[in-house]
Amino acid sequence: MRIILFGPPGAGKGTQAKLIQKKFNIPQLSTGEMFRNAIKNQTPLGKKVKSIMDEGKLVPDDTVVDLVEEALDKPEFENGYILDGFPRTVPQAEAFDTLLKQHKKKLHSFLSLEVPEDELMRRILSRKEGRSDDTPEKVKTRLEVYNDETSPVLNYYKQKGIYKSIDGTGTIEEIFGRISAVLEK
Ligand code: AMP
Repeated sequence: MRIILFGPPGAGKGTQAKLIQKKFNIPQLSTGEMFRNAIKNQTPLGKKVKSIMDEGKLVPDDTVVDLVEEALDKPEFENGYILDGFPRTVPQAEAFDTLLKQHKKKLHSFLSLEVPEDELMRRILSRKEGRSDDTPEKVKTRLEVYNDETSPVLNYYKQKGIYKSIDGTGTIEEIFGRISAVLEK
């Protein structure tokens, strides 16, 4: 299965992607984690994206698409994957479509985790992952960037008929139960 796990910052994409990976045995690919690792390991990519991420802004589309394209070429993703944090703009979604077509692959689901904005802020500020972009000011920027640049991706997939809305409120287990029910259908 090829799944996109979509949602605003703090919706629980990373947490839920890991649970899906474990239960359904589908590997997760998180662009945010890949960038954080690149920064930690001080690679050329890490140096390029550090200040952008620290500001809570988006890494340029070309850089993200190249990274995803290279990663998905690995044999472990041959039979499916969960994308967490990608695509985050309409041009990324279009580029990803082209990539899928080239490889004659299809998307199974676009799962949209839906959580009210005040809850997102509360969740991010209470998590203790040590992320440099989890401060109130950066979270505000990230939510603005989500509303302006990322939320149009929802309509893009609604038109394709694979959009599924998931209530992202409640406990981690409750949310995962809703996701599992959709994927097991
Ligand atoms: P995340 O872990 O998904 O919250 O991503 C953390 C940060 O990484 C974002 O605020 C962006 O700066 C960057 N990033 C991750 N994925 C993307 C993407 N698909 N497009 C642009 N920037 C991204």
